[in-house]
Amino acid sequence: MASEFDIIRKYFTRPAPTAVLGVGDDCALLQPGLGMTLAVSTDMLLAGRHFFPDAEPGKLGHKALAVNLSDLAAMGADPRWATLAIALPEADEKWIAAFAEGFFRLAGRWQMELIGGDTSRGPLAISVTVIGEVPPDLALRRDGALAGDDIWVSGATGEAALALAYLQRRVKLEGPAREACLERLHAPEPRVELGGRLRGLARSAIDVSDGLLADLGHVLEASGVGAELAWANLPRAKAIAECADPALAADCLLAGGDDYELVFTAPPSKRAEIDAVGKDLGISLTRIGAAVPGKPVATLRDAQGKIISASRKGFDHFA
Ligand code: ADP
Ligand code: MG
Repeated sequence: MASEFDIIRKYFTRPAPTAVLGVGDDCALLQPGLGMTLAVSTDMLLAGRHFFPDAEPGKLGHKALAVNLSDLAAMGADPRWATLAIALPEADEKWIAAFAEGFFRLAGRWQMELIGGDTSRGPLAISVTVIGEVPPDLALRRDGALAGDDIWVSGATGEAALALAYLQRRVKLEGPAREACLERLHAPEPRVELGGRLRGLARSAIDVSDGLLADLGHVLEASGVGAELAWANLPRAKAIAECADPALAADCLLAGGDDYELVFTAPPSKRAEIDAVGKDLGISLTRIGAAVPGKPVATLRDAQGKIISASRKGFDHFA
């Protein structure tokens, strides 16, 4: 049976050429680039809460890093390093190898280096910390939105939540729509490149992990502005647009978690440049409304200008 140290050596020790010191000592040592600040974020994935205990380990390795990369993207930071704390019920080497493979495949796409962590026996739990770099004055903070800014969203929201509803047998999904939703839920694609390209264009940004309205709400609170949103302009994936249960689809669209799209605000003068970034990256970027003076609430209107009340405000672990 592999010991803790065998596991670390065999599966979680890889070269980290840009770190001063990587895995193996009491601490890793890191030197940020000249003029850069470090952007640091941690996200935890717990079996039974964030994923099914029998989840495919390769996809879990991907997702554990992806949800963290999404936070770096939302800050406009370039990914550099990561640490991984993992509790495993047993030393199942097949499982660990597949997990590491999913983790390192995504890490490699961004030349990210694993520089430390912690390994323990316990109920399956994964906590990743990512460290990125961003010039301090260009970080895409939540408190930068100004009244008059456009509000944008990348891609489309709701597919991951729809996949979850499907797995819970609350809705039927079939064919490519089902595959697209499941892929979204199990192997999300963080918008890392987009986040970097929005530096100097966007005034504020957040990633959609808890639902479009809830996460936009954090930007509004931090920035002290309100928002007017046009229901008709919200981008809809095929599975959402054609869902047999429109009320559920609307709920997923507005309040579904786990999408990892970016919501950001930018002055209208930047529209052409932002459109060009979307074209360049092959990511649809949609203007869904505007920041307005007033209370930090989002008002959603139909095509006639009537207010639509949103039923749920996103996922809250303690609600
Ligand atoms: P310590 O007892 O000093 O905290 P550990 O025995 O926990 O050290 O870890 C030994 C080394 O292995 C450290 O450099 C630590 O960062 C690294 N490490 C432990 N677990 C992991 C992991 N899952 N992934 C990457 N590095 C790890
Ligand atoms: Mg330790």
